[in-house]
Amino acid sequence: PPADNIPANSNQAPSAPDLLWNDDGLPVSREFNDPYFSVDNGLEESRYVFLQHNGLPQRWSDWQGDFSIVETGFGTGLNFLMTWESWRQSNRHDSSWLHFTSIEKFPLTLSQLQQALALWPQLSELSAQLFSQYPLPVAGFHRLVWPEERISLTLIFADVKEALPQLSGPVHAWYLDGFAPSKNPQMWSEELFSGMRRLSQRQPGQYQGEQPATVATFTSAGIVRRGLLGAGFHVKRVPGYGRKREMLAGSFNRRQGPELAPCFLHKPWLLQENRWPDDAEVVVIGAGLAGATTARALAERGLKVEVIDAAGIAQQASGNPQGGLYVKLAAGDNAIHTDFYLAAFQYALPYMRRYLGAGDADNPYWSQCGVLQLAYDNKEAQRQLKFSQTRSLPETLVQSLDQAQAGNIAGNPQQSGGLFFPQAGWVSPADLCRILLQHTNIRFTQRQVSALQQIPQGWQIQCSDGTILQSRQLVLACANAATNLLPEAYLPLKRIRGQLSYLNPAQTPALNTVLCGRSYMAPARNGRLCLGATYNLRDDDTQLRDSDHQTNLDHLPDFGPQWQELNKQQGMKLVLGGRVGFRCTTPDYLPMVGAVPESRGFVQCFSGLVRNAKRIPAKAAPQYPGLWLNIGHGSRGLASAPLCAELLTQQMMGAPLPVALDVAEALWPGRFLLRDMVRRKLPPEL
Ligand code: SAM
Repeated sequence: PPADNIPANSNQAPSAPDLLWNDDGLPVSREFNDPYFSVDNGLEESRYVFLQHNGLPQRWSDWQGDFSIVETGFGTGLNFLMTWESWRQSNRHDSSWLHFTSIEKFPLTLSQLQQALALWPQLSELSAQLFSQYPLPVAGFHRLVWPEERISLTLIFADVKEALPQLSGPVHAWYLDGFAPSKNPQMWSEELFSGMRRLSQRQPGQYQGEQPATVATFTSAGIVRRGLLGAGFHVKRVPGYGRKREMLAGSFNRRQGPELAPCFLHKPWLLQENRWPDDAEVVVIGAGLAGATTARALAERGLKVEVIDAAGIAQQASGNPQGGLYVKLAAGDNAIHTDFYLAAFQYALPYMRRYLGAGDADNPYWSQCGVLQLAYDNKEAQRQLKFSQTRSLPETLVQSLDQAQAGNIAGNPQQSGGLFFPQAGWVSPADLCRILLQHTNIRFTQRQVSALQQIPQGWQIQCSDGTILQSRQLVLACANAATNLLPEAYLPLKRIRGQLSYLNPAQTPALNTVLCGRSYMAPARNGRLCLGATYNLRDDDTQLRDSDHQTNLDHLPDFGPQWQELNKQQGMKLVLGGRVGFRCTTPDYLPMVGAVPESRGFVQCFSGLVRNAKRIPAKAAPQYPGLWLNIGHGSRGLASAPLCAELLTQQMMGAPLPVALDVAEALWPGRFLLRDMVRRKLPPEL
């Protein structure tokens, strides 16, 4: 991934604002010397300025498909909540979603947010829902969803200038709500207006609606009016709320302002050819974590989903009895890797709570017992040190522990310290998949797909039982099997055998948390303790092997002296059984999510990049129509699959992406084709 696009300060934790609570109990920013909302009646003013002057809720009554709003300055979330309330009252009976994106450089702490929103008891039910998912102060994108309300909130903790180039659009309404331009001139910058221009364009594959994007802002300052005019908005001064004289409202007019290049998005290969709204059915091949999370996200968008899997639900790599829900964050320069896994992990936690309930001691499906990554050797200790020095993350997310602290947390003595993720834990992947597939819009059938064929109406799916299915939209979430089904696509996947050993918990010390060394081990469940898994490339053996149990046992000393002793005394006598699975990984250990480029067409279209990698032609990349991938989750699918399913669903619907464009590009399935083309390493047939 291109390092030059990484936001400069994604390593820094965003700082909370310094607030003064005035005599009326309203929050005022000390830094900007400006209140967060009006003294008279903030809620009414918000409705008047932002809803009414963006034509809402009236525009929703004849709007088709999802509606997208972008706000500058999330602040207390008042605008978001009053918009949510209005969306609810608009009583839409279709399956469209409201996607609200808000950018905030100085996020309030949860307790500041609670204090501020206590001023609006009429919103208390919605506020409580916001509190329950409000993100930790970590820079970057945070995706919150409420499927039953058909609402998503993408909260971006960054400066407006850094965030806008990472947004994908479409945008149907803008709420410009930073502090007053006289007090906060940095925000009302040229970058804000040019970003608005880029995102207000009609893009291929995105539903822009019949009407242009609209904008409303509380200010009537000349700098804002001129900025909006220059960015292609018709703006007028209209009476302000209450005692305020004037504010601005307007709408986008493409013909006004400077000429735009034909490709406005980040990179042309991220443009999607979307088929919305006539495709209401999707076939998903694969019923493991990737397939089940994707099917669920699509079903919650109102699509009918047919899920097929040869082996049943979660029978392959996702069939281990327990999997660690945690991420191994990259130390050093691999910022995109860490950005993605951090966002995915934070998205996965409320996700598990939503579908599996609270991860407490009584829950049979998952436990938020914490994960301790031990610094089991010098190299790992150095890696952890480097990580802690480069990323500043809140203690509620990750803590650096010394040896004694690690022993206390684990519940038995340790030989090293480590990184502790208090909210992480384990999940039963098969139970999760089964629960996710229980939705009226999802149908599961056990069938083996033998071949795929592209036909004018989409895709023909031939099954080994003779059944032939047809669908315009097809998602492959079948890990390594994707390479056989798509022999023409350039998918350099690696299949890695992993053997788990089940130990007898009656013979082992009790564990308080998941422990990770060279192997991982979770607290016992259903009378067995899972230890593993081995890691073997180019090994197709499906049978359990004693030598691999031995490899797992050899890693027990990483977990401290008690385990070392136990291994010495008991060894193989501890082993009750095990399980073999096959991971699907990619060369850069990031999943592949998105549309699939048509290899030969892509090379023809972009071969000029071999000579000059910087001269990217502004044309859409040839891709297989209606074909989508969600594969390559390796051994981290519990953390990565939920966010990838959300990303893929938004791509398929032409809706705003839940991650930064840089992250979407880092996950794009054509990245190896592009990389090897530029390095002149493609096979001769391409
Ligand atoms: N919309 C908010 C609400 O409903 O409570 C009120 C927003 S408050 C008036 C302005 C917000 O803009 C503050 O939270 C402030 O931290 C944020 N802000 C100011 N400058 C910013 C910048 N350059 N980038 C991102 N956010 C900024």
